[in-house]
Amino acid sequence: MDPPEPLTILIAAYNEEAALPLLHPRLRAVLDGLDRPARVLYVDDGSRDRTWQVLCEIAQDDSRVALLRLSRNFGKEAALTAGLDRITTGAVLILDADGQDPPELIPTFVAHWQEGYDDVHGTRLEREGEGWFKRASAHAFYRVIGRLSRTPIPRDTGDFRLLSRRSLDGLARLRERGRFMKGLFAWVGYRQLAVPYHRHPRVAGRSKFGFWKLWNFALDGITSFSTAPLRVATYLGLATALAAFVFGVFTIGKTLLWGDPARGYPTLATLIVFLGGVQLIALGVIGEYLGRLYLEVKQRPLYLVEDWRPEAAESANSQAEPATLEV
Ligand code: UDP
Ligand code: MG
Repeated sequence: MDPPEPLTILIAAYNEEAALPLLHPRLRAVLDGLDRPARVLYVDDGSRDRTWQVLCEIAQDDSRVALLRLSRNFGKEAALTAGLDRITTGAVLILDADGQDPPELIPTFVAHWQEGYDDVHGTRLEREGEGWFKRASAHAFYRVIGRLSRTPIPRDTGDFRLLSRRSLDGLARLRERGRFMKGLFAWVGYRQLAVPYHRHPRVAGRSKFGFWKLWNFALDGITSFSTAPLRVATYLGLATALAAFVFGVFTIGKTLLWGDPARGYPTLATLIVFLGGVQLIALGVIGEYLGRLYLEVKQRPLYLVEDWRPEAAESANSQAEPATLEV
């Protein structure tokens, strides 16, 4: 019989010095109970607090822990990509560092993977400890992108998921710079399964996603997976032209019937401002896409690595890779 495929737990951490010491013991207990070789890969996404020191301490007393440190904060999507790029064998399970995704569900995910699913993802039943605004905006976002995207993106699903080897290989081929991971996972396809779960509050520390970050994230998601807003600009233009035509006919009729006592300054002013607004909106929409196109063509690496420490259990028999690997 083939040896069981290994599993890597991937965790991106940015300023999580308080949460990591609470999370790791829970992970450890879960890994001890698994029927296969497993390791944890922590990616320090350029933290400014003691996250890296905390991670080094964790790695010191657990030989299954590998560490990757990026040269600065590149954002969660890039940090996850950096980690995924280091996983060359077996499957991966992605988890948040703050304990919101319970590690105790890992065996359930693994069981579904063994049944033949390639992408087992957690779907949030509710979000404890998050304000009404975040809940409402997340709810709205998943519905909007669900309408607009040609790739069906599962609702209320975060990055908490297990990906099989072939899903990972598929994902590795998507090197776009605008990385909306939830969409990329969905694009890969294969056999997907949603596992409903209760999302817990953060164990410690605070959320890294404030209003503006979430807003920009939503724009990135929509523009990466849909060109519908560009079409909206076309329809907006058509609708305005039609309205202008109707208004023109109305004005001519009015003038013929009742003459024209040279009025119409307010109408003119309103029309100019209205048309200017419509044009600026359309330009803005084009600009959103153009800006992203600009970022894509520059072909910068997605991240830079400052330090790579494979798990002690592995490095005994494998050669250390150079520390400045990129892309
Ligand atoms: N994270 C990261 N880089 C960032 C921001 C966040 O690696 O620039 C990590 C963070 O440490 C956590 C996960 O992404 O493990 C989710 O972040 P957070 O809990 O702040 O988001 P929320 O759950 O509030 O949406
Ligand atoms: Mg969180």
